[in-house]
Amino acid sequence: MKDRILYLVETLNKANVEYYVFDNPTLTDNEYDSMMDELIKLEEKYPEYKLSNSPTSKVGNEVISEFQKYTHPTPMFSLSDVFNEEEVVDFIKKVEEVVGPTDYMCELKMDGLAVSLIYRDGKFTTAATRGDGITGENITHNVKTIKKLPLTLKKNVDLEVRGEIYMRKSVFNKLNEERSKENLPLFQNPRNAAAGSIRQLDSSITKERNLDIVLYHLPNTTLKYHSKSIDYLEELGLPINHHNRLCHNIDEVLEYIHYWNVNRESLPYEIDGIVIKVDNIDYQKKLGFTVKYPKWAVAYKFPAKKVITKLTDIVCTVGRTGQITPNAVLDPVKVAGSTIRRATLHNYPYIVEKDLRIGDYVYLHKAGDVIPEVVGPVLERRTGSEKVYTMIKTCPICGTKLELTPSKIDLYCPNKNCQARQVNSLIHFISRDAMNIDGLGDRIMEDFYNLGIIRNIVDIYHLSAKKEELTSLEGYGSKSISNLLISIENSKKNSLERLLNGLGISGIGLKSARLLAEKYETMANLMNASYEELLTIKDIGDVLANNIVTYFANPANRILIRELEELGINMNYTGKKAKYNEEITGKKFVITGTIDYMPRDKIKEIILAYGGYVAESISKNTDILICGHDAGSKYGKAKSLNIPIWDADKLSKVLDTLDK
Ligand code: NAD
Repeated sequence: MKDRILYLVETLNKANVEYYVFDNPTLTDNEYDSMMDELIKLEEKYPEYKLSNSPTSKVGNEVISEFQKYTHPTPMFSLSDVFNEEEVVDFIKKVEEVVGPTDYMCELKMDGLAVSLIYRDGKFTTAATRGDGITGENITHNVKTIKKLPLTLKKNVDLEVRGEIYMRKSVFNKLNEERSKENLPLFQNPRNAAAGSIRQLDSSITKERNLDIVLYHLPNTTLKYHSKSIDYLEELGLPINHHNRLCHNIDEVLEYIHYWNVNRESLPYEIDGIVIKVDNIDYQKKLGFTVKYPKWAVAYKFPAKKVITKLTDIVCTVGRTGQITPNAVLDPVKVAGSTIRRATLHNYPYIVEKDLRIGDYVYLHKAGDVIPEVVGPVLERRTGSEKVYTMIKTCPICGTKLELTPSKIDLYCPNKNCQARQVNSLIHFISRDAMNIDGLGDRIMEDFYNLGIIRNIVDIYHLSAKKEELTSLEGYGSKSISNLLISIENSKKNSLERLLNGLGISGIGLKSARLLAEKYETMANLMNASYEELLTIKDIGDVLANNIVTYFANPANRILIRELEELGINMNYTGKKAKYNEEITGKKFVITGTIDYMPRDKIKEIILAYGGYVAESISKNTDILICGHDAGSKYGKAKSLNIPIWDADKLSKVLDTLDK
């Protein structure tokens, strides 16, 4: 533990110098934040190992530069970070335990660098960076070049005021475009570019960089409320942010966070979170500070969309069709709100194309906000010890020699009796989009397979006869077994498309299964359908039609279906024909974020029932994006393609018009 603490302290201190002194971070903010979070927790648990140079007890980094040092009359603080709504609620609860119910000023957390300005008698005199909070760098000559900053205030007052210097996205893009033409190294992000631009010895360079500034804090104010002090800054002619909102309770604070989580892409500058501040200054004083942070404010950080983590191994899994999928084993990392440990690498050519090696640091993001995707290696972090991956030649489960699929891209295990293929076929049969048998999850299915209790689909429907044996198994209570048997019994009534999907006919998923079930209405009709007839169905092409005919021509499959029918499994389409709604029927939808009043699955079900389509990712063919809170990049993409967006209110209005 001591070693881990030492490692974290050294790594974070090094990162601080790279970030604050050289404006050239080698860790992502997310890596930095999660290491810092780990260090804080370890120091709380093992205070005896806390080191005197720990970054948890200091703000930023001490000044090491050619700039003149400047001691702040009032120390500058950092903000403590929170990463989810529960932590925001905890912060508010802690505050209200001390001061009772109160108002909060919610502000955009500008992603730039903190600055302190001094005005004497209404005239701008000094600007300094935060440095270690006590001593910063004097950057007066450079800050003077920021056009938005008034050098004279509207009143002749003395002022020490704090804000953020930042670079607009358009300025950043143009700057990097120019730098790329001149073969100069590119800035990683607007924050980095702003920091690099303000810390120039030649202020004419800073001037060209077109920086912006916004002021958000007036230490030592005699006003009673922080919000009033911001109004006062505006009266003095200083630029402030007009998106600030005074919130009167937790719900309003969370609503503000949701709103900006969804809408932040529409801002002309980058924000990395929301700052929540107690508005009442007396209360702020009562709450006080830790060594590093005010206890009356907190920064909610938006979930990272792209992170770096280590690829520790590549392991292959065998799917229900025998397809071999290499998977990246990753050091656990949080992306867009969830912890990722594994990500599919699809196939061997993908690994070769991306040049992924075991031991590499890799960029990871969530494709379409849902599926984790390894984007590529971080080449700058290669040490030479990374290992090139050689693709396996035999099935990792049954040892059979692997073969190439007709596409020549994927490998597959040709052994139909391969245990992995069988178990995964059974898991597919019970899955949510197929027979939807609750209580018989992946693990239990694997267990039952290994114990020889379930070896094929028919065995599932014979389980009720083995109730006693099942209840005597370790880890399976009689209640859970009864529930399981009930859901197996219920699944017998499923509409035909679920069974069709569950059978695992090559290429047939729930969507095509529904088309077939709607058209043929009974299993018997479908089994007798000819190849030519199947081709007349929209979306059923050559390959699918062939797969269907081949499947039903196989005597073993016909026997299976007869057995299932004898066991009482419904063989008819019982779904309703699609209903009509002008705003839904025939339209292609994508859903992102959370709609509080309805789970995504339910929204999808309604859209499908009304003859709409639901896709995973935005394309130019998407008709409507349904966008809840905590949405990710789909929102920005839909905006850029001018795709209409329905928020929770609009969706609710449409739902109200549907037949009940
Ligand atoms: P912070 O960025 O988490 O929050 C404090 C800062 O927020 C303030 O100093 C201020 O500059 C800014 N801010 C923006 N809008 C504000 C507003 N409306 N009101 C008040 N403050 C506002 O803390 P920090 O100490 O500046 O930086 C720490 C963060 O920097 C880390 O969480 C990490 O993400 C990043 N960092 C990264 C590395 C790296 O190697 N990648 C190294 C060091 C720090």
